[in-house]
Amino acid sequence: MTFNELGLQQSLLDAVNDLGFETPSEVQEKAIPILLSKESDFVALAQTGTGKTAAFGFPLIQKIDTQSRTTQALILSPTRELCLQIANEMQLYSKYEKGLNIVAIYGGASITDQAKQIKRGAQIVVATPGRMKDMIRRRMVDITKIDYCVLDEADEMLNMGFFEDIKDILSNTPKEKSTWLFSATMPKEVSTIAKKFMHKPIEITVGAKNAGASTVQHEYYVVGGRDRYAALKRLADANPGIFSVVFCRTKRDTQKIAEKLIEDGYNAGALHGDLSQNQRDLAMNAFRKKQIQMLVATDVAARGIDVDDITHVINYQLPDEIETYTHRSGRTGRAGKSGVSMVIVTRSELRKIKTIERIIKQDFIEKQIPSGIEICEIQLYHLANNIKETTINDEIEGYLPAIGDVLEGIDREELIKKVFSVEFTRFFNYYNKAKDLNSVSSREGNSKGEVPSEGSVRYFINVGERDGYDWMTLKDFLRDTLKLEKDDIFRVDTKDSFSFFNTDASFTPLVLETFTEFKVNGRFVNVEVSNSPEKRNRKKRKGGRSNYGSRGRSNDGSRGGKKDFSKKGRSNRRKGFH
Ligand code: ADP
Ligand code: MG
Repeated sequence: MTFNELGLQQSLLDAVNDLGFETPSEVQEKAIPILLSKESDFVALAQTGTGKTAAFGFPLIQKIDTQSRTTQALILSPTRELCLQIANEMQLYSKYEKGLNIVAIYGGASITDQAKQIKRGAQIVVATPGRMKDMIRRRMVDITKIDYCVLDEADEMLNMGFFEDIKDILSNTPKEKSTWLFSATMPKEVSTIAKKFMHKPIEITVGAKNAGASTVQHEYYVVGGRDRYAALKRLADANPGIFSVVFCRTKRDTQKIAEKLIEDGYNAGALHGDLSQNQRDLAMNAFRKKQIQMLVATDVAARGIDVDDITHVINYQLPDEIETYTHRSGRTGRAGKSGVSMVIVTRSELRKIKTIERIIKQDFIEKQIPSGIEICEIQLYHLANNIKETTINDEIEGYLPAIGDVLEGIDREELIKKVFSVEFTRFFNYYNKAKDLNSVSSREGNSKGEVPSEGSVRYFINVGERDGYDWMTLKDFLRDTLKLEKDDIFRVDTKDSFSFFNTDASFTPLVLETFTEFKVNGRFVNVEVSNSPEKRNRKKRKGGRSNYGSRGRSNDGSRGGKKDFSKKGRSNRRKGFH
């Protein structure tokens, strides 16, 4: 199906062309022909990011009489940000329509300015319910002659408690108008609205009702309640290119987590209703420009985020309402891209995951918070790739002799080691004290610092490929040394300078005992349980504090090649290494 077949006038097709839209999305394909040809009420259910704005925007623009300056259409949308987005998007769609005026009205900006714009003649008004009601009351806008009313993100407007406002506003509109309702989900409240204010609406559904976007992978991580923040940092560190929205339940938590992240050197920002409009705009702009990699937000504030390439949505806490989860995860996986929605949960919240799975009709994957060692490795590869991909700055040329003098006598291999140590030592020092954050229901006693007694246990061993092992030879070595059967040792993963393997927990005492003071060719071979936190801590702690949460930045200065990591972080780091 092409845009040409939908019945749109040439001026709109030209705009489509300029926008670079190649084919209509499913909701557009289904909605546009109906809305163009019928004067009827209409309900469309489609997830976020499916192109709903154009689905109602194009037909609306085509139906407006630009000869008349009367307000003919009202679009209600839950937040100021969305209002602006819809208005901006519609400006682009209508760039070739002469005499069409689209005006956005919303709270937090001068009401008299908005009234002036309306007065000049606005055929289409895009409004938040609160401001709309206000302006009706003050007779600054006249919607008594509209032909079309669009309720965009209806579920969210109702979530935000706009039911009464919407009812009020609609009571000022003519009976004969058409009402078009767009929603990502169809909770009871939305069907109530549809029944109450609409007459035999034509209904279309894109994808399964209430289904989350299928390009989103849903993951959960079980941690202790006090480890949420540490887990969040690990998830960020394990995904160096992350560009994410982190959802918290309250404004207070949102502010607190954002502040902590910034303190720890992440490119983070906060978005919530206690900030001034100006502060919110600044945060959104920085996020759009990717100066902020982790935007910590409340559900209400985040409703306005329309950024297409968010890689991860992190649920720092699960929302109270399951419906809200759909909105959160819909922030990623937009415009055909894939995304990950991560949930940090405590054991007691696990049943909520089951409920969400039922509602979104998609399974969650249970994942482990990466261990410190894994993060170090990921960061190293990331750094190596960054170095490889970096375009050489020609200005360096002039300084090469001087640099050459300083580095005289250091060969390539040593140089590489040194360069990488700069990053690695910092991560390693930070993370080798770090405990395992995973809270595993099947294994008991873990939190008391005991060695796991059932299930399978993963170990870290300080030999790897550099020592001439691959997974098979390491497995042979372990089997011979431990005098175990081949199948008793599994998931052997060799890395360059270290490796992992698993055994059943019943062998753990044997493994740990065997590798106590164990030497190969004069070198200590050390094995630690990689998912038993307390044990590693006990060993390393030596009177030191285990509270690594206060250890300053753990962030990867190299992430995304951003130059704007804090100076503070930099100089701290220097201090640490010289
Ligand atoms: P929704 O309201 O369903 O969440 P939007 O209308 O905000 O989705 O559209 C999401 C993104 O997809 C926007 O950036 C929009 O410009 C883009 N988009 C919409 N329709 C198309 C299309 N047919 N082809 C390509 N991109 C599109
Ligand atoms: Mg939308």
